[in-house]
Amino acid sequence: MSRVKNVSQRREPTSDEHLASMRMVVKEGAADRPGIYRMLSPTGEVVYVGKSKRVRTRLLSYFRCSYPEEKGARILREAESIDWEYTPSEFAALLRELRLIKAFRPRLNVAMKRDVLHYSFIKITRGAAPKLAVVRGASADDASVYYGPFVGAQRIGDALRELSDVLMLRDCKSDMKMHFSDQQELFQLSPRTPGCIRFEIGKCLGPCVGGCSVSEYAERVAMARAFLDGDDDGPIGMLKSRMEDASAALQFERAAAYRDKLNRLEVLREQFARLRFAVEKLSFVYTVPGHEGADRVYLVKRGVVRAELEKPRSSSQRTKLKQLVGDIFSTHESSGLSVPTHEIEELLLLSSWFRRFPKELGRTKQVS
Ligand code: SF4
Repeated sequence: MSRVKNVSQRREPTSDEHLASMRMVVKEGAADRPGIYRMLSPTGEVVYVGKSKRVRTRLLSYFRCSYPEEKGARILREAESIDWEYTPSEFAALLRELRLIKAFRPRLNVAMKRDVLHYSFIKITRGAAPKLAVVRGASADDASVYYGPFVGAQRIGDALRELSDVLMLRDCKSDMKMHFSDQQELFQLSPRTPGCIRFEIGKCLGPCVGGCSVSEYAERVAMARAFLDGDDDGPIGMLKSRMEDASAALQFERAAAYRDKLNRLEVLREQFARLRFAVEKLSFVYTVPGHEGADRVYLVKRGVVRAELEKPRSSSQRTKLKQLVGDIFSTHESSGLSVPTHEIEELLLLSSWFRRFPKELGRTKQVS
């Protein structure tokens, strides 16, 4: 269906003559169809990947940049050749572009990085004593668990601090050495001192100072995960009972402080509920009309395309689609909000697509 065309003239990338020849090949060879294109350096490095509804028009626009500081001119300065590939639709081009960017990480593709950095995620770090943290974007190469995406890092950060405090999870530097109570050294001569005041004021179990065992700490991390997954309201219950105790003891200032903490956690819970709804809503069969009848069907589950195939024309193709739908949608996945890092960019891409083109939801079919 798609066609690859190479323009590979080995000349100085900045020379006007070379640019004119690249332009000519685009003008003669490229069609106004949806697709993606790659800009390649003289060494063959993919320096930029783009997509367009009309590849020819888009590529020719690069050659019309009037100022050297324009984005298109900067990209062309680095490129010595362009290749392109057609896709059945703009949506297909968007997905293909994302996959190529993930595969090549072209240095001039900053848009995607910026999009991801716009959002915050809650991260549960790995290791013996995981902690909760708010991060911008997500690192594809670590094994932490991410929840999100969210906007409003400050509010999420405040709520997360309350969650860490109530569950007494650590919030110190990742390289802080841990000494669990069931892992004390045999010949330890003097008592350890905690790395910060949180242990002494009852806001951390103190895994740095033998204040808890490995399993006691793990239990609290599990409670944090259950709360973030929306499976358990334990931390809210803990704060409520502390507030009620303070109130019964006529410690009204204390009770008010607990109420504020409670409010911050409830804000987080509400934001999670909204987000969960949004992620769940992005689960359907999406049929996209393609160029010259090349319609395609995308099976989208929790904001990620799990499979795609040609729109079925025969009964055997329809049976195949039905089977695939059954396989994909009957597989149970946690209804929580943890998102595997490799899926975050696609989730952001799909939510932004349906936000920009809400009418496209009319082409989707929920799977019951
Ligand atoms: S008490 Fe120890 S483990 Fe807890 S936050 Fe402070 S340094 Fe980290």
